[in-house]
Order: sequence, then structure tokens, then C-alpha cells
Amino acid sequence: MPLTKLPFNPCHCLIDGTWRAPVSGQTIALIDPSDGSELTQIARGQSDDINAAVNAAQNALSGEWGRKTALERGRILTKIGQLVLENVDFLAELEARDVGKPYAQARADAVALARYMEFYGGAADKVHGETIPYLDGYTVYTLREPHGVTGHIVPWNYPMQIIGRSVGAALAMGNAAVLKPAEEACLTALMFAEIARQAGLPNGALNVVPGLGAEAGAALSSHKNVQHISFTGSVATGALVQQAAGANVIPVTLELGGKSPQLVFEDADLAEALPFLVNAGIQNAGQTCSASSRILVQQSRYEEVVAAMSERYKALKVGPAMDDLNLGPLISSRQKDIVTGFLKLGEDLQIAATGQVAPDAPKSGAYVAPHLLLCPDPNHPLAQQEIFGPVQVVIPFKNEADALRIANGTDYGLVASIWTENGARQMRLAKALKSGQVFINNYGAGGGVELPFGGIGKSGHGREKGFEALYGFSTLKTVAAKHG
Ligand code: NAD
Repeated sequence: MPLTKLPFNPCHCLIDGTWRAPVSGQTIALIDPSDGSELTQIARGQSDDINAAVNAAQNALSGEWGRKTALERGRILTKIGQLVLENVDFLAELEARDVGKPYAQARADAVALARYMEFYGGAADKVHGETIPYLDGYTVYTLREPHGVTGHIVPWNYPMQIIGRSVGAALAMGNAAVLKPAEEACLTALMFAEIARQAGLPNGALNVVPGLGAEAGAALSSHKNVQHISFTGSVATGALVQQAAGANVIPVTLELGGKSPQLVFEDADLAEALPFLVNAGIQNAGQTCSASSRILVQQSRYEEVVAAMSERYKALKVGPAMDDLNLGPLISSRQKDIVTGFLKLGEDLQIAATGQVAPDAPKSGAYVAPHLLLCPDPNHPLAQQEIFGPVQVVIPFKNEADALRIANGTDYGLVASIWTENGARQMRLAKALKSGQVFINNYGAGGGVELPFGGIGKSGHGREKGFEALYGFSTLKTVAAKHG
């Protein structure tokens, strides 16, 4: 069903506070993954539009936006957060239909977007430099300054949350942003830009150019007048973005997904762990960078955990986003092909349980039933590669050393969790796990905006969320005054 009532033209870019058609006049079809129909057309922005957006951002920095105090920037972000909350149902419907995620999850993402704006609105005037005791006759201090123009290349899986954490922090520090949302899902990025405009964000402080990765995305990551790039997406594209940014010697934040494990020891409280073991794998149909796709279980509890997870799996229902079941479709038929390709690759693994695609789900939708697979070999491709679909593998381990070796035995390191009542083991493993975040007796801690997030290894580098992001989206100047 086509969309109605959009308060902006989805075939336009927002540049310098004005909605305008891309220079080429070209558009791309946006597909509803719940039934394969066309939702709307969107702008196919290209290098001319990126140039105009970067130019507008530069002008904003030397104009009204650049003159705002930290307090004033914070107030604008807080106002954006309030307007996001006033539009939460509309944003949720846009995200649900565009991404295919169940409505309740889309609504939670919209609330999280508001929370990012509140958090970074409140934090904007609380990032300070410091004074440094130095030689006699000197006063030395540091200043936190914006990079300048920041580029934000965002994927399709959590558009609102990722925009909140990266654009929110960048604006709080006084940067001017150019946002390139994903071609598969960009409606909430456009709606967010419209909300920011209405909240009084000065022209050019946030510009949005939808388009293809190889065109608009590549033009942004290689642009000579961009001073920082934040990228979330695949390892292959992240490496290209880093190379492009490297040619201009600018910093990059890369958030590239993972193969995140949960370690279940024999003394774990299974009743407490069970919802996290399953939900962390199937949320957003497994298309989550921090999805827990590996469940490591001590041998003495292996059968019990598999049985308990299987019960949950059998009850999982998959269907159209607006039906608000446990899982929606995948983002696209292309993503469905990738995931079914992985299931073929894992045909040698025993299927412990699957969920059910609702019988009335449109055949033209990108549905895949969630799969729980038994995987005795931690080096199996399905235990090593990011699938980005609703597939979890359960791997047995003998003891703590074995668990640690398996947990650390992939190229990734984004999130890990430990389920044990043994405090010493909790502390040992929290230090030894190669991971950007470690959770003890929980997974994700509710996704808090306050918690620094990012990976090591092929999961990427740099940190977003929390105060840490404010340091990443700013640069430090040291001033040494000799006064005698
Ligand atoms: P992708 O990394 O290619 O796309 C992410 C973003 O990068 C999009 O906005 C895209 O337009 C842009 N992009 C693409 N090519 C570009 C280029 N050459 N220069 C600059 N920007 C470019 O991801 P995808 O193709 O949508 O998905 C493929 C796989 O990536 C998935 O199966 C999944 O494994 C992984 N993925 C991970 C995340 C995550 O959150 N870590 C998100 C999306 C996809």
C-alpha cells in the first residue's frame, strides 16, 4: 500500500534547510519488505547533491549554527527530542513499513531516537577541556572543538537509532552533518530531518541526501571538505569507506557488526537467561549488528538449554510488520537470498527448532523462519560468519578456558555476555573477552544510549553512544600561554 500524508516530498533531499529534487532528477523505488510492493520513490542523490550538502554544511559552520553556544545547541536537540516524541506513532509506522520490523520494535526505536536527542541535548554543554600543570610561567589548557563537516553513512536495520547516536552526538559538539541513509530504508531519516527543521535547527546544520551507496555514499566518504565519517554497515563497505577517508587523512568511526556470543555456564540462572538467549538473536529478524548469533553452553546444561530455547523457537511467529508478531520480514529479497544461502551452507547441522511464518503472510514478502541450529564445531562457517538473519547456533563447551577460546575465536568483537553466578569468573571473563561490550547476567542492558558502543577486530573501531561519542565527534586543541 503506498504511503500517504508525508510532510515532505520523499523524492527530495534536504539541503540548506530546503527540500529539493536531486540535480539528476532521478529516483529509486523504495520497497515494502512485508509484501514486495512499492512504498514510494525516493531521491537518487549523487555527487552534485553531496557537493551541495557539504557546501551547505560549511556555510552553516561559518554562519548561524557555528555561532550557537553549547547551551543553545543543547536546547535545539532537546526540542528535536520533544518533537520526535510528539510524532512517535508516525515515525514508528514509517520505520515498520520501510524496514519491515514489527511495529512495537519500530516504536521502541522512535522512543530511543528521542532519548538520544535528550541525552545529547543535555550533554552538549558538559564536555569540558582541562587545565594542565606545566612549566613555571605557563598556563596550559585544552579546548574541545568540532571536527567541522561530519558525514554519516547509515544502514537500513536501525535507521532511527543509528541516526540518533551519530548525528545527535555530532550536532551536540557543533559539527554540521551530511547524512546518507540507506537506499533500502530512508523514510525516518527524511522525517527526522523535517522534525529538526521544525524544531529550529539552523539551515545546513543537518543535510540529508538519499541515494545509492556506490554513488552518494562514495561521494560523501571521499569528499575533500568532510572532516569526519561515521559508518555503520558491512565489513566490505566499511573497508572501502576507510580507504576513501584515508586518502583525505580524516578520522573514521566504523561499526561493522559481529558474531556476538552468550556464554552459559553450569551455574547459570536459566529462567533469567532464556528470554535474552533467544531475543538477542531474533530481534529485528536477526538483522542487528549486536545480534547474539552464538550461544555457548557448558556441556552439563547443553541439552536443557537447547530444549528450553527450542520451546521458545516453536512459538515464534513471523509476519507483516504492521501485524506486530515476533519477527517481521527481512529487509529485501536480496537479504532473504543471503540468509537462505547460509541455511544451505549449514545443511549438515541439526535443526533444533524453527519458528513459523504466518500462513497468511504475503508470498511476495521477504520472510524467513527463525532457525536454531546445533553446531558442535565452533569453526563451522555458520559459527564464524555474520549471517544477518534469524539464525542462532548453539555450541557446547567443556570448561571456562574452552568457552573463552571459542568466544574469542572469530574475527569479530562487538558484544559478549556471561551467564554465571560465580563472581570471580565474571571478573576474569569480563577482562579476557575480546569485545567492545561485555554484559554479566544480561544482554544489551536495554540498549542504553548512555553506554559506549563499538567493536574491535572486524567489528570496527571508534565508539558511539554515551559521553564517549562526544569525544569522538570532536577534536582537542592544546593552548600553552607563556606569561612569565
Ligand atoms: P552496506 O554496508 O553495503 O550498506 C550500508 C550503508 O553503506 C548504506 O547506506 C549504503 O548505501 C552505503 N554504501 C554502500 N556502498 C558504499 C560505498 N561504496 N561507499 C560509501 N557508502 C556505501 O550493507 P548492505 O549491502 O546493505 O548489507 C550487506 C550486509 O552488510 C548484510 O548482509 C550484513 O551482513 C551487513 N550489514 C551490517 C550492518 C550493521 O549494523 N553492522 C547493517 C547493514 C548491513
